[in-house]
Amino acid sequence: MTSLPSMIGGLEPQAAFNENLHARAGALRDEVFGQKVFVRGVVEVSNFCRENCSYCGMRRDNRSLDRYRLTLDSLRTLIQEGIPGIVTDLNIQTGEDIVGIREIVLPLIEYLRQETDLGISVCLGTLEPKIYDELKQAGASYYIIKMETGNPRHYREIQAPGTFEERLEAIHYLARTGWAVSSGFILGLPGQTREQIDETLDLMSELPLAGSSVSPFIAGEQTPLSGNPAGDLETTLDCIARMRLRNPSYIIPAVSALNLVGNNGYVRALKAGANLATINLTPSSNRADYVLYKRDRFIMHEARVKKAVEEAGCTTSSQSISKTWADFQNGNGQP
Ligand code: SF4
Repeated sequence: MTSLPSMIGGLEPQAAFNENLHARAGALRDEVFGQKVFVRGVVEVSNFCRENCSYCGMRRDNRSLDRYRLTLDSLRTLIQEGIPGIVTDLNIQTGEDIVGIREIVLPLIEYLRQETDLGISVCLGTLEPKIYDELKQAGASYYIIKMETGNPRHYREIQAPGTFEERLEAIHYLARTGWAVSSGFILGLPGQTREQIDETLDLMSELPLAGSSVSPFIAGEQTPLSGNPAGDLETTLDCIARMRLRNPSYIIPAVSALNLVGNNGYVRALKAGANLATINLTPSSNRADYVLYKRDRFIMHEARVKKAVEEAGCTTSSQSISKTWADFQNGNGQP
């Protein structure tokens, strides 16, 4: 049973703004990456999902959601019509949707590899090792797979994908087979304790990762957690800073949800050590149905990203995450 004084999930007033912590983390990011922020485009290819996470609007039990898969032709057109020049990497994202991966994601990666120099990231869930291998063979190099919590019991309670052990095994397999792997967690899930946050930050540092993220919890309208308060901005920013200080070379994103839980959250995340901004490239007609939290999303487009990066005193990187990480692995670059 959780004791009230240590609870974060909306029950305790926010932690004090820790200016010094954030400044130290921002300075370390600058030291390692030279005030550069990566800009990654994201395209949300399919919102079908076989999982049932209690915090996600795309869970399989949400029968009221219009499900979609973008067509390969429409994605080719999107790329041909031009991706913003500041984008160096593209993240292809879906729910856990094997059909979508086979029919759309794999040929899309092959197309991107042939036609562009973009670094290719994927966020597709826990899959069979054979599929990870095929995705890598096709040309992807960076796999995003969130733990959501570092506590096995909490993982079960929030109905996160599969089991905690399977998720860890997937991360180890991916890292072992040459992927750059990024994980992450949600701050402010109902019932989350400070001890669980510390445990999760420990796990994020112990795993063989190239990056990690922390996103503030926002209750999805058609989820079992609907109606719960959002995660606290200050604690989220503190976690970003702590992550940077413990893992200088990590790719750490500023996530758009930060702007929904407090004023200027996105820029403050960049100042607290984050080094990745994301531009949403999903066609506007489908964005509202990709409901990781709620339909009313804060969408980062090119102009917003440019402004935020500038306000944070940074510039955008002309080199992709994939190339930078490969350089790190080959001993070129600092970490
Ligand atoms: S968080 Fe991911 S795996 Fe879980 S229901 Fe949502 S899309 Fe599916």
